[in-house]
Amino acid sequence: MHGLMMDTPLLVSSILQHAERNFPEQEIVSVTADNPLHRYTFADCARRSRKLADALQQLGAEAGDRIATLAWNDYRHLEAYYAIGGAGFVCHTINPRLFPEQLVFIINHAEDQWLLTDPLFLPLLEKIAPQIEGVKGFIVLTDEAHMPKSSLPNAICYESLLEKGSAEYAWPELDERTAVGLCYTSGTTGDPKGVLYNHRSQVLHAYAGVAPDALNIGNRDTVLPVVPLFHVNAWGTPYSCLMVGAKLVFPGPKMGDGETLCNLIETEKVTAALGVPTVWLALLQYCEKSGKRLDNLQRTAIGGAAVPVSMIREFHQKHGVWVSQGWGMTEMSPLGTVGVPKVGMEGLPDEEMYKIRAKAGRAIFGVEMRIVDDNGKELPWDGVAFGALQVRGPWICSDYYKLDGSADTHTADGWFDTGDVAIIDSDGFMSITDRTKDVIKSGGEWISSIEIENVAVGHPDVAEAAVIGVHHPKWSERPLLIIVKAEGKEPTRQDLFDWLDGKIAKWWMPDDVVFVDEIPHTATGKIKKIALREQFADYSLPEGSS
Ligand code: AMP
Repeated sequence: MHGLMMDTPLLVSSILQHAERNFPEQEIVSVTADNPLHRYTFADCARRSRKLADALQQLGAEAGDRIATLAWNDYRHLEAYYAIGGAGFVCHTINPRLFPEQLVFIINHAEDQWLLTDPLFLPLLEKIAPQIEGVKGFIVLTDEAHMPKSSLPNAICYESLLEKGSAEYAWPELDERTAVGLCYTSGTTGDPKGVLYNHRSQVLHAYAGVAPDALNIGNRDTVLPVVPLFHVNAWGTPYSCLMVGAKLVFPGPKMGDGETLCNLIETEKVTAALGVPTVWLALLQYCEKSGKRLDNLQRTAIGGAAVPVSMIREFHQKHGVWVSQGWGMTEMSPLGTVGVPKVGMEGLPDEEMYKIRAKAGRAIFGVEMRIVDDNGKELPWDGVAFGALQVRGPWICSDYYKLDGSADTHTADGWFDTGDVAIIDSDGFMSITDRTKDVIKSGGEWISSIEIENVAVGHPDVAEAAVIGVHHPKWSERPLLIIVKAEGKEPTRQDLFDWLDGKIAKWWMPDDVVFVDEIPHTATGKIKKIALREQFADYSLPEGSS
């Protein structure tokens, strides 16, 4: 028997309508390329999003058309999210840090019809324009006064385009399974793969994100998403913050600038900030140098890469800020787990608490997870067994855009194989130990490169650490620790061994330490292990190691 409930579709436009009706005066503050501090309200955002949707339709955009954005976090990019998705087009967010060849590939693969761009990226687009001829026009996110000269024949000024749109535009009542967004995973191997989100998945994901034991966002919060709108929906914040009426603060092109972040947190009274570990490193370094404290900030959600205990400790001890670690993926919208302690853990000593928060966290409702061995057999949640991490749920991709099942990432029983290797403890806290392809197998046993990296980076003289497996005649592979020294510091090989001693299993001790000027990163800031493995392909471990 079916229940007797209304079947109103879950649409992102309904979030914007709710925000406008219930929190019209709530603020959105942005740093943009043409304004150091722009400020307006949810009502303004809703009105301008309708105008943009209408203007795009006047340009000839049709349902299902992919319309791309190449932009930092600010109010215009947020308008693009709502206008494009809400109108039934697909908002294809592009990471400007990709190599030009990758940009060309994904723009053509997505068959983008229009592209909204920050003025800053015009030189980049001018260079690749002959290779992306399918794009009908480039909408430059600025006003006439700041419109740069461009050799692109079809550059349109955003504010002038908006003028032409009607604020009376009515959002269409779409099927909730209609595609709303597209984001390519930058992947360390092969061509980038497109993840195609739908309205239903994004609304459910936003509901899950605001919960107290997830990102914990409410009307009284001021949220600073330092995680980019161009990567995995900025962890759902464009939707979740408007859903609950939280004030939004966008850092624009100043995302990696510790001073700007610190000032925004102070002046805008930011209570919750979200981002990858690298951006917090910049903020913490700035605070250390300037002697500033993050007094308003209550919590940070950090994910996208493992969060070292040293960072969790510093946030808490110096700023009174608790870190909640999150794990997720482009394929998962991205939220999968969040590391909020369970009831009964409140009284634990701080150092114990830091260890719990250094885990990737527990699955939020909507995400089922399991770890399996090489034969696909499920492994226990005992804090010991390592296995391939698989997930399923309504905001996890069922396939990649235009790949028709050829990606080989889904199991026969409908789970998505994340490519991560994890341990899950008896409380349900998951820890990522590696990517499947990065696992170090020594004498048949797995060594967690991520755990060694986390401990190594806690050394005060270390700026960054990476661990890869290198060939060993007896053990087949042994860990090699690769270190970037902190500015002005000179740690030795022995210093690193001494530091690791007692903090990791004895047999995990790297066989050697090498110092490099730089560790290569992917466009989303993750360590590019594949490049490191190539760089050290002929490396021979010192005589007598292991
Ligand atoms: P992306 O799709 O670019 O967001 O990357 C997703 C990948 O980032 C995951 O599959 C993990 O390998 C990694 N990742 C994300 N969050 C964490 C975390 N908290 N700890 C360790 N790795 C993480």
